[in-house]
Amino acid sequence: MDELSRFCCQNTRCADYGKRGAGNLTACMRFGKEKRLRLLYCRTCHARFSERKGTPLFEARLPEATVHSILEHLTEGGGLRKTSRRVGVSRGTVARYAVLAGTHAHSVHEELVAFSPANAGGPIRREVGLRG
Ligand SMILES: [Zn+2]
Repeated sequence: MDELSRFCCQNTRCADYGKRGAGNLTACMRFGKEKRLRLLYCRTCHARFSERKGTPLFEARLPEATVHSILEHLTEGGGLRKTSRRVGVSRGTVARYAVLAGTHAHSVHEELVAFSPANAGGPIRREVGLRG
């Protein structure tokens, strides 16, 4: 599987907005610390955007491991105060990432529901390991 097939154009005005594996994306350059992030280019609308756009990590100032730690604590049922103490960030920071992750999880849920069951065996169901 082409690793860019997991991504889709983030420009809401693009004809290929939200379509994964449409073949419209290329990685045009790397940026950020140690150039770990890719800048994606959409051949359909000519937009460029971070591979993190549309995820809780987009424009994150915290190290990725810290964000993952916050989200893990929240997933395990930790509250804002407890997560804040354990990870060593403010409650406001924990709350902000909780909202970002919740919004992202909601969009992922809506996308998966839209593909099921009419498109059983489609690309999203295969990606999450569901059998059609
Ligand atoms: Zn586009």
